[in-house]
Amino acid sequence: MIPAAKPIIGDEEREAVDRVMRSGMLAQGPEVAAFEDEFSRIVDGRYSVAVNSGTSALHMALIAAGVGAGDEVIVPSFSFAATANAVHLAGATAIFADIDIDSFCLDPRAAEAAITPRTRAIMPVHLYGHPAAMVQFAKLAKKHGLKLIEDAAQAHAAALDGVSVGAWGDAACFSFYPTKNMTSGEGGMVTTPSEETARVIRLLRNQGMEKRYANEIVGFNTRMTDLHAAIGRVQLTKLAGWTAKRQSNAAFLTEHITGVITPSVADGAVHVYHQYTIRVDGRDRDAFAAELTERGVGNGVYYPTPIHRLPSFELELDLPQTEKAAAEVISLPVHPSLSQGDLETIVSAVNDVAKAGA
Ligand SMILES: *Cc1c(COP(=O)(O)O)cnc(C)c1O
Repeated sequence: MIPAAKPIIGDEEREAVDRVMRSGMLAQGPEVAAFEDEFSRIVDGRYSVAVNSGTSALHMALIAAGVGAGDEVIVPSFSFAATANAVHLAGATAIFADIDIDSFCLDPRAAEAAITPRTRAIMPVHLYGHPAAMVQFAKLAKKHGLKLIEDAAQAHAAALDGVSVGAWGDAACFSFYPTKNMTSGEGGMVTTPSEETARVIRLLRNQGMEKRYANEIVGFNTRMTDLHAAIGRVQLTKLAGWTAKRQSNAAFLTEHITGVITPSVADGAVHVYHQYTIRVDGRDRDAFAAELTERGVGNGVYYPTPIHRLPSFELELDLPQTEKAAAEVISLPVHPSLSQGDLETIVSAVNDVAKAGA
């Protein structure tokens, strides 16, 4: 079976963890500080603050943006639940707007239509590693006086018009969960152009303290450990190579797959293929996915249920593009460990199943 995702952990990561273990300093320390500095280089030099997960990053970025009770934040429903969970954990309400099905990302027109006097922020998701329409979102945020927060959990090193994701919004949030394009075990990063926002996130992650026992605000313990940061630092050095491999794998798949809709890339966009997601337009998606599994091609459906219809939200909304995507998507393996033989197996499995009319 070709796995749908495969974290790559090498000797360098093991040695880095061992180095931290031997140092005896396990909690947040010099490795975290170095990881932040190094991460800033892939977000056009913005401030970076490391935390314990992507969800924490979103939660704290929202709080730092002043989002709280009575506020609305516009998000896509076609995303991982963490996107909307973070809004509700901050005390605000997630307002779900439809996506543009070609990019699978939040549709700027749908987002604009969802703006009310309570709207405080827009939070597009760079889903599957494809940058959201940030030029339009930046204009929209400016026009309506809203905060712009990027959910970049799936999009390390993606870019639009030569500007990296993570360098567009008032804040952006990355995840280092093991299946993401790079990992620290668990972990997250907030990036921001604002020194003050960076300071508030640092306070929030550490019980509101900058100086020990002089707590300035009410905060969490959402610190990253030096063990995790040491892994993340090594992975960051490998990210560019892995991204190039994901992109060449995706190019091969797009060139050879027939009979289904392959991912499109917007003008000016650099897609980093966290997922390579096809649409089985009009076919029985679950049967199609089962046939692929039968042929040894691991696959995944991200996400079968839009967030607004999950038991945790249970909202009745009319989001036709979101529903269409949720019914038609299958993500194929695209990770850097695929061999040429694996790629050929994936192509022939998809083409066979498409031709058989599953
Ligand atoms: C993974 C992910 C998150 C949450 O990241 P964690 O590190 O798992 O907390 C948030 N948003 C999206 C779109 C994700 O894919």
